[in-house]
Amino acid sequence: MRYPYLSLTLLMSAILLLAPSIASAESYYIDSKQAYADIADGLQAGDTVILKNGVWQDFEILLEGEGTEQSPITLKAEKSGEVILSGQSNLRLSGKYLVVSGLVFKDGYTPTSSVIEFRKDKDNYAYHSRVTEIVIDNYNNPDKQESDYWVALYGKHNRFDHSHLVGKRNRGVTLAVRLNHENSQENYHQIDHNYFGYRPIFGSNGGETIRIGTSHYSLSDSFTLVENNVFEHTNGEVEIISVKSGKNTLKGNLFLEARGTLTLRHGNGNIIEENVLIGNGVDHTGGIRVINKDQIIRNNYLEGLTGFRFGSGFTVMNGVPDSPINRYHQVENAVIENNTFINVEHMQLAAGSDAERSAVPISSQFTNNLIVNQNGQNPFTISDDVSEVRFAKNISNTQVPSELKNGFTIEDIALERNENDLLFPAKAFSTKNGTDVGASRSLKKISKDEVGVSWYPKLSPLVEFDSGKTRHINLSTQSLSEAIQQAESGDTLLLEAGDFVIPKLIPIDKTLSIKAKNAQQTRLSCERTALFEIQDGGALKLDGLVLSGANSPDSANNAVVRTQKWGMIENYRFELHNSIVENLDINHSFHFFVSGKGAFADHIHIENNQFKSVTGDIIQLNKEIEDLGIYNAEYITFHQNQFSDIAGALAKVYRGGTDESTFGPHFLFTDNQVSATGKGKRNKENASVYLHGVQQTHIANNLFENSAPIVIEHTVGEPQTLIENNTFKATESPNIVELRVDGPHTARLNNNTVLN
Ligand code: CA
Repeated sequence: MRYPYLSLTLLMSAILLLAPSIASAESYYIDSKQAYADIADGLQAGDTVILKNGVWQDFEILLEGEGTEQSPITLKAEKSGEVILSGQSNLRLSGKYLVVSGLVFKDGYTPTSSVIEFRKDKDNYAYHSRVTEIVIDNYNNPDKQESDYWVALYGKHNRFDHSHLVGKRNRGVTLAVRLNHENSQENYHQIDHNYFGYRPIFGSNGGETIRIGTSHYSLSDSFTLVENNVFEHTNGEVEIISVKSGKNTLKGNLFLEARGTLTLRHGNGNIIEENVLIGNGVDHTGGIRVINKDQIIRNNYLEGLTGFRFGSGFTVMNGVPDSPINRYHQVENAVIENNTFINVEHMQLAAGSDAERSAVPISSQFTNNLIVNQNGQNPFTISDDVSEVRFAKNISNTQVPSELKNGFTIEDIALERNENDLLFPAKAFSTKNGTDVGASRSLKKISKDEVGVSWYPKLSPLVEFDSGKTRHINLSTQSLSEAIQQAESGDTLLLEAGDFVIPKLIPIDKTLSIKAKNAQQTRLSCERTALFEIQDGGALKLDGLVLSGANSPDSANNAVVRTQKWGMIENYRFELHNSIVENLDINHSFHFFVSGKGAFADHIHIENNQFKSVTGDIIQLNKEIEDLGIYNAEYITFHQNQFSDIAGALAKVYRGGTDESTFGPHFLFTDNQVSATGKGKRNKENASVYLHGVQQTHIANNLFENSAPIVIEHTVGEPQTLIENNTFKATESPNIVELRVDGPHTARLNNNTVLN
């Protein structure tokens, strides 16, 4: 009977040892900030703090104490999802074995540098602590350029999991792992099962979803695990995840239609494995970018990615010899194996090779990868010597560049979707060992149901135009402002014919279409300095209207449509179709559309309209004059319009600065007829179209007559400009200059006709 006796003794000792903490474990039901302040200083291991359901305004929570592994200190919602932290609220943790769950942050923003921070201040951090089942929804500083983190991990052995982060619109990384103190290095943090939802295009650097480290501490190891998260439309900037430290693992995550790449920007010995990246052909969806030493990229699945250059589906960079810590370190000893690339448009090797980035990848291997492009296009671009990368046992359905030939077998490959919704070859390859090529057939695509919280919906972030009700409106019996107030986001207002003078500025703060019942039989003019103002939450589509300036005030600088003049935080959309815009000439500088400072359009689309007699510009997107890499619109499209007697420019787009963290702006101008445009004395750019720092430009099939030239200023980022099949009649040919790069301009001009 020795054995039971021993067990009993052990059990009794255990009870005795645990007794003090069990005796003192308290449960506090907190219904006011004061009640929390009263107990916050004395929290002991095993204590539980329950926050009462409801909305808490301006509640800065500091959870501080020393829990133990068996008896953590817990702070939780009375019911998960029913405790709303609003206004200037935030959460800090300091100490050990702390657990927080069930809180929702919305309708406000943090007054400090983070919403959730695993530290009290610069000297006191959290360890072995967990924040789980948290929602942060559009909790944004109203000044878009004010930077904060939503989650900042400091300390060691902390976990952030099963949380839902959506709608970060102001500057700053959504979730940052900070390594700027040795107490935060080699941290073994775990970031798992989170839903990283829509992050709109930020419109400059500073919109990463996750960053681990910074260049300054990048030679420190972090040992952070980012596992089984979903990233959907995390479009902030070119880096979705920016790894800037060593020994991290990104594993089992799903990236859905997310613009940007997983970038191993700094630090060595990182692992990217078992991730699934699905682009569905969406613009600028990218994959994995490899820089530095000892990186392992294996068993990932990448499909339908369109990104190019450094935003490609796969990129191995060239480095800078003896690179400073913040430049590009040479790729050395990279292992790239058993990855599947399906319909990945671009794969770049030795990318970025130039006079500075001349250190080619060495001692690396690219083996057992499967590459299928169903359109038959070779995805590879090789920019420098890749002879020190060993290519072996790869299979492709397309031809590959000659440097890679020995490492590839070319085969026809039929694909089918497996039970995990991923494409795999329908049958085994004829090639020996072909079944070992590409990602594992058992690779799993994590589902949205497995991440975030069950009690908060993962909604589509944007309301589409014309997705709601159609409302018939007669402006002789109902005012436009009333009709708009009553409409719901997504609705279409169908206007009866007539000639209407609108007495008020019409604010637009939801998604609305305003359409003439009979094309060009509804005429709107206004008595204020603008007819429509797009505000936060607004998106406007106008269709089939006649928009006249005849009743506008007799003063300069009127507009038909403008955005909020400053302080806009939500991206907007604007479209004009099938309309006539005329008589914007009551005074000088009468513009059609004017962006406010800080406003950002996801797109502006102008199609099949006639513009005549305008004393200002058609589209003004030139408010970010400080050259900080900020701009006013991502996609600007003009298609099949007619312009005559326009004193200003059709578009002024300004994207200054030297930063390369944006994909845009994009400018598309096709099949338009332009006459007597751009020659007004106040049009100081002397251009019919003025583009500064635009990244992608396509101007094609237009007729320009008696107009000022197109003026394009290239700055940074290898801008792509194609001007083709245009006719320039009594109009100077396009004037293109490189402002930052020596040598001739890089625009392509094909098949244009200049007649004088
Ligand atoms: Ca960045």
